[in-house]
Amino acid sequence: MNNHYLFISAHLDDAIISCGDYIDSLVRAGHRVTVATVFTGAGTDLSLLARILHKKFGLSSNVMKTRREEDISACGLLGVDTIHLDLQECIYRKDRSGAPSYKKLDDLFRSDYETELDVISEVAEVLSTRLSLTDYERIYIPLAIGRHVDHGIVRIASEQAIQSNSELEVSARLIYYEDLPYLNYGQDTQWEIDLACHLHPVYSSLPRCCLKQKTAAILAYRSQIGLLWHSRWEMLRQVIRHAHSCRPPELQLDPNTYCFRLHAMSVPEQIPFARLVPENF
Ligand SMILES: [Zn+2]
Repeated sequence: MNNHYLFISAHLDDAIISCGDYIDSLVRAGHRVTVATVFTGAGTDLSLLARILHKKFGLSSNVMKTRREEDISACGLLGVDTIHLDLQECIYRKDRSGAPSYKKLDDLFRSDYETELDVISEVAEVLSTRLSLTDYERIYIPLAIGRHVDHGIVRIASEQAIQSNSELEVSARLIYYEDLPYLNYGQDTQWEIDLACHLHPVYSSLPRCCLKQKTAAILAYRSQIGLLWHSRWEMLRQVIRHAHSCRPPELQLDPNTYCFRLHAMSVPEQIPFARLVPENF
């Protein structure tokens, strides 16, 4: 049976950078995939931080329009539908006095959700009203590794939106993905304890051709490569190294495959392509 799977992404690129290869495997198996990105709206009256980041993107005008087009190209390459929810990401948001909510790059990773309760409610409302959450067999959301505030907001808001829908059985429906490249930066050493302690790791083996498709899709996000990796070669090296770093000893892998890890509340058998690995791994 063909199913429809939803990936919720904070920014234009997160779902593809984190799961582009797994998404490709779902599409190859004949399933339908939709990537819904929350923060795709343009900013106005830009802060200094937003202007600095635009410069790093190499974009001077129509920044979000260009980034939305990059996303459509990347998702098109994988045969995936896109939904852009057009809320403003943290570098564009203002507090109640009209001052920028985030003035320094480090502030984006301080994960203080007390000041973001209104945004969390707004995102949960938009997810509930703009997406038909009951249409999807599984919903994949970020763990928020790296503690980017927007990733945390999307995780909390997605959990709220799904929990508040009585037709959705949360434990069977929700799957969490690891945030790349933040996991590879290695700075969030506590993520398994803080963000995944009540979840089960679930392993799938993917054919190597999925990795090639993933890197091709990532390259469509031209404005983001330099910011996240400095160069496309560094991106390629990191993506390949990461793909081969996941090696649960009990999982027999074909030489033409590699391992991909997700996290779920439910039993692994319910996850597409899941392979059983002992609980204590
Ligand atoms: Zn992001």
